Amino acid sequence: MQTSHETDIVIVGAGPVGLFQVFEAGMLDMQCHVVDTLDAIGGQCTALYPEKPIYDIPALSVVEARDLIDRLERQASPFAPVYHLDQQVVRLAGEAGNFTVTTSTGTAIACKAVVIAAGCGAFGPNRPPIAGIEAFEEKGSVAYLVTRKEDHRGKNIVIAGGGDSALDWVLALNGIAARIQVVHRRNRFRAAPETVRRFEALVESGEVERVVPWQLRGLEGSEGHLEKVVVADLDGRTKSLEADLLLAFYGLRMELGPIAGWGLNLERNLVSVDPATCATSTPGIHAIGDIVTYPGKLKLILSGFSEAAMAAHDIHSLVWPDKPLRFEYSTTKGVPGS
Ligand SMILES: Cc1cc2nc3c(=O)[nH]c(=O)nc-3n(C[C@H](O)[C@H](O)[C@H](O)COP(=O)(O)OP(=O)(O)OC[C@H]3O[C@@H](n4cnc5c(N)ncnc54)[C@H](O)[C@@H]3O)c2cc1C
Repeated sequence: MQTSHETDIVIVGAGPVGLFQVFEAGMLDMQCHVVDTLDAIGGQCTALYPEKPIYDIPALSVVEARDLIDRLERQASPFAPVYHLDQQVVRLAGEAGNFTVTTSTGTAIACKAVVIAAGCGAFGPNRPPIAGIEAFEEKGSVAYLVTRKEDHRGKNIVIAGGGDSALDWVLALNGIAARIQVVHRRNRFRAAPETVRRFEALVESGEVERVVPWQLRGLEGSEGHLEKVVVADLDGRTKSLEADLLLAFYGLRMELGPIAGWGLNLERNLVSVDPATCATSTPGIHAIGDIVTYPGKLKLILSGFSEAAMAAHDIHSLVWPDKPLRFEYSTTKGVPGS
């Protein structure tokens, strides 16, 4: 059944940058609906690294990714955003001042402007090509992210991969897991030098086992409950590692998805915008955060926050054509209920 809504701005993507767009729009009296494919807000922060510390958010010397999202949600809440989660924006029709955004569940939202804050598009993990892996994923004995370290206390864990994510999780789960074996198809690891140094120290002290150069070959267990991870070397010899959890970190698969078909100027799968306003090549559509490109663009949360402020100021004349924009500090204007 189709449900219909009406608002000023539809934000595609509820990552950190999309959430801050709600605040910036709200400060200029514009109401937002926010759509996300995932079933929770927070984008990469929630889906990929909720328990990791972030050190480069201004004025927060350190903040866990999950906590940052809670704070952004609270900051946006006085402006009563409406979230439509677990649904992808699949269609965008109309023109500046009169768009209709349609989602995969049939929700239709009429709006005056659209802000694309879709990060790297619809993202998902690169899965190892192992037959029958889905049954183990369903039971949680194969996973591609860690949402709560404590859930893995006392487990026998095989971590596969040779980059930052794999080794970061080795360090984070050491002391929580009963045993960690790290499978990588090369002898060298590609993580930050300090991370590799700490990892090597754990291997040296016998706290973590390094299984190189081997690669994943198969999984053994029953009804999705993992018992062994089978690995193979370059000569095709195999051996089995006892495990009740496989964490595989082979990078992210990123797809622009339906956004690629909206007629926007794209550059290497990113949306080109005017860096002064974050306007795209289509009037009424702005883009901010990781999905955009312009000379000097940094894929950082703090850059996305600034882009949200610029986009809101540029959209104002579309939503309020008869109301001149008066630049005001938040200290002067305040927020509803303050
Ligand atoms: C391990 C790791 C550590 C990091 N550490 C830092 C750090 O220390 N500091 C820093 O500044 N940055 C860091 N980053 C990068 C940071 O997470 C990103 O810059 C940030 O998440 C970008 O925010 P965003 O809102 O633009 O996009 P995202 O967080 O990617 O969110 C985009 C959202 O859009 C949704 N979406 C996409 N397409 C659609 C569609 N068609 N319909 C509906 N929804 C859609 C996605 O589901 C997603 O939830 C890190 C990233 C990783 C992976």
